[in-house]
Amino acid sequence: MSKKKSNEFDVIVVGAGPAGATVAIKLAKAGISVGLIDKDRFPRRKPCLGWVNGNVARLLDELEVASKQLLARPIQRVAFHNGELSKSSVPTLKDSPGFLIDRTVFDERMTNAAKRAGATLIEKCEVTSLEPYESGVNVLNAKGKTYHCELLVLANGASNAFRGQVGVGRSDVGGTRYSAVVEHAVDRKSNTSADIDIILGVTPQNGLAILTRQKDKVSLALNSAGDEESIREQFIDLATRLREKEMLDDGFPINPKSVQCGVSNVGPALELDSHVGKHTLLVGDAGGFIAAVSQEGNYPAMWSAKIAAETIESAMNAESSQDALMTFDTKWRLEMGDYLRPPNTDLQLLAPLIFSNQPMTDRMANAFFLGENI
Ligand SMILES: Cc1cc2nc3c(=O)[nH]c(=O)nc-3n(C[C@H](O)[C@H](O)[C@H](O)COP(=O)(O)OP(=O)(O)OC[C@H]3O[C@@H](n4cnc5c(N)ncnc54)[C@H](O)[C@@H]3O)c2cc1C
Repeated sequence: MSKKKSNEFDVIVVGAGPAGATVAIKLAKAGISVGLIDKDRFPRRKPCLGWVNGNVARLLDELEVASKQLLARPIQRVAFHNGELSKSSVPTLKDSPGFLIDRTVFDERMTNAAKRAGATLIEKCEVTSLEPYESGVNVLNAKGKTYHCELLVLANGASNAFRGQVGVGRSDVGGTRYSAVVEHAVDRKSNTSADIDIILGVTPQNGLAILTRQKDKVSLALNSAGDEESIREQFIDLATRLREKEMLDDGFPINPKSVQCGVSNVGPALELDSHVGKHTLLVGDAGGFIAAVSQEGNYPAMWSAKIAAETIESAMNAESSQDALMTFDTKWRLEMGDYLRPPNTDLQLLAPLIFSNQPMTDRMANAFFLGENI
């Protein structure tokens, strides 16, 4: 590795969430110089319900990030409900299908691991524009400073920003989805299990709500297509109905001000022509890597980032790095395509079966947590 100036890196990663941190850890471990840039300072709060797939444990092990504390709350009970809250079913689970994490702690540990691996974490640095040139990319920030890299990774979350600047075609095919979430502190000393209730078809736009219960926290999230204002309204309506059904206690805050809302999807990865721009790869939410059935983004963000890092490693040694980067599109589709894909059958049509037929309930759980087809 040649000696570089403090604003020069082999690879710059914009965004230090789970996707960006995963790329940074893997590349830094491989001896590649990495600048990991984020507009915030860590620990930072990211609106998130915090459920992660069981496969995250294996990924953390591979990244050598201590997982015991981060994944201390395995999900022990799952139930599906219909949007009217009139029908329920409980899948038979052989093992815990995932964990409930604290996103603030999780993301901070990941960025610390990136630093330990040798990456340079540049915080409070808002990237405002990208300028690809013949042999690299200039990364400009809000204070007028410019960073340089040979290859760039866009891991800036659910946003279309910068796609055009690096030559990736825009795609708004799937439309924007929002997620709204409320976390409510509780003290349930008698009950230490982590439970998850999944409510299907909450809104006419395929809305999905998840209610999690832990010993110290009850959280509710609603994910749906539509505009931010309508998601907030639908969230309040759902929370009110859950209270009436005694699935939420009276202390759970039901007012628009307590609802945190954010973009969760800017169009599915499968519908984007390419995730490769000029010297650039798109990963995580920035590339629409969200599972269609569960709207899960944390694990797909890390998975897509892992594949991107492996692609970049070979690109750094290739005669034409751009040609090597182009292999990313095929690699992630082969590995992740089935996991992210919507089911072959419309969920609305399947819904009655999910609540009347145990094998269908179990298949829905496998689709939700393992990305299997229903
Ligand atoms: C309310 C809500 C609840 C959710 N709940 C769950 C859940 O329970 N389970 C699940 O699997 N998924 C959930 N998701 C989705 C999940 O949060 C995302 O899929 C995941 O965070 C994607 O990780 P990422 O690294 O791609 O992006 P992010 O985690 O969004 O990280 C992007 C980073 O880029 C930084 N950044 C953005 N723009 C710039 C810029 N211009 N310059 C510098 N830095 C920048 C941001 O500060 C941020 O740190 C939820 C989403 C929402 C909105």
